[in-house]
Amino acid sequence: MIVKTILSGKGGNVVTIEPTTDVADAVRILTEKHIGALVVTGAEGRIVGIISERDIVRALAKRGNAALKLPLTEVMTRKVVTCGEDETLSVIMEQMTQGKFRHVPVLDGDRLIGIISIGDVVKWRLEELQLEQNALRDYIATA
Ligand code: AMP
Repeated sequence: MIVKTILSGKGGNVVTIEPTTDVADAVRILTEKHIGALVVTGAEGRIVGIISERDIVRALAKRGNAALKLPLTEVMTRKVVTCGEDETLSVIMEQMTQGKFRHVPVLDGDRLIGIISIGDVVKWRLEELQLEQNALRDYIATA
C-alpha cells in the first residue's frame, strides 16, 4: 500500500497555520477540527514546522499559562519529516516509530498535498490483517 492510495480515500485536506499565530489559537483549531497536529506554513505555503498537542503540553509544563500567548515559532518542531505520495506505508510506519511522532505531511515537490496520521496507518494495517485472516480461513476451509 502506498500513500497515494490512502490520500485518494481520505482526501488531501491539511489544516495549516501561520507561524506568527499564538498557541491559544492553535489549541482552538486543534479542538474544533478534532485533530492532533497542524502543519505550520510560511510564504508560498512552504512548510516551516509542525505543531502537535505534545508540543503544547510541553510548553504548558515549562511556561504555565504564559505558553498560550507564545507564537508558534517558539514551540513548534522545525525539522519536519515529510514523504512523497509514492512512499509505502511500511516506510511511514518505520519513520513514525523511529522519530516517535504520529503525523507525516505529504509533499509533491514543495506543494503540501496531504497528511498521514498514525490513525490512517492503524486503519490500513487492521484492514490488511483482516484480509490476511479471511484468506487463511478460506484456505483452511477448502484444504
Ligand atoms: P505527534 O506524535 O505527531 O503528536 O508529535 C510528537 C512530536 O514530534 C512533537 O514535538 C511534534 O512537533 C513532532 N512531530 C510531529 N510530526 C512530525 C514530523 N513529521 N516530523 C518531525 N517532527 C514531528
